[in-house]
Amino acid sequence: MSTITSDKLRRLRRIIQQIADLNDRMSRGPRQVAAGKNAVAKTEEQVASLKNAWKTMRMQSDDQQVQLKQREAKLVELERKLNECKTNTEFKLLKDQIAAERQANAVLEDEILDKMERLDQLTLDIQQTEQLRDRARREYEKTAQRVEQQSDGLQSERDRVTEELHAVERGLPSDFRREYQRLVRSHGPDALAQVEGETCGTCHTTLSSQTMNELYLSRLVYCKSCGCVLFLAEDRVRSSSATE
Ligand SMILES: [Zn+2]
Repeated sequence: MSTITSDKLRRLRRIIQQIADLNDRMSRGPRQVAAGKNAVAKTEEQVASLKNAWKTMRMQSDDQQVQLKQREAKLVELERKLNECKTNTEFKLLKDQIAAERQANAVLEDEILDKMERLDQLTLDIQQTEQLRDRARREYEKTAQRVEQQSDGLQSERDRVTEELHAVERGLPSDFRREYQRLVRSHGPDALAQVEGETCGTCHTTLSSQTMNELYLSRLVYCKSCGCVLFLAEDRVRSSSATE
């Protein structure tokens, strides 16, 4: 049976965890940049759609104003006819027509006013959304810059820690190396489980006293339940060697 110290396994676990954390940070950066880019695109779309709505509303309002002018001219014409009319019947007809025209014009005027108010509101909405878009752009640029700056540092830190890992791995018993690599590939840092009390730190199964004894003797021990490599916490190694 191979022997391996808990110190070495603990160090391995720490390094593997460090690499996993660095990988996590390195992949988080580009995700944050992508999210920032999306936020910018979304607010840009909102601004464009509000501007379109404003344009459409403005065109409708312009059309209605032209209509109103034409109708007002028609009204002036009707009033002129009213002054010139000869018969009572004609007078009555024109009077009714003028009243109806005035009514219709009043409705049109209300609609135009309503559109003016909505145009004002849309203008405010556009300004606010443009501010949100500008803020999103600034955030995005800041994030992209930060991620870019951190990227090199993280990369060289990972290179350094990976080198450290390889150095420790080279010192592993040769018959253990293949199994160790298989475990780390599938479980990451949890492939190496620190014993908590008398249970496996990965699957929390209680360990037998024979397993505990083997650990105190620096034997290479796998958890019988989850298959991970077990090691002792720092303070327990010292207390165990003190009793030897
Ligand atoms: Zn286990």
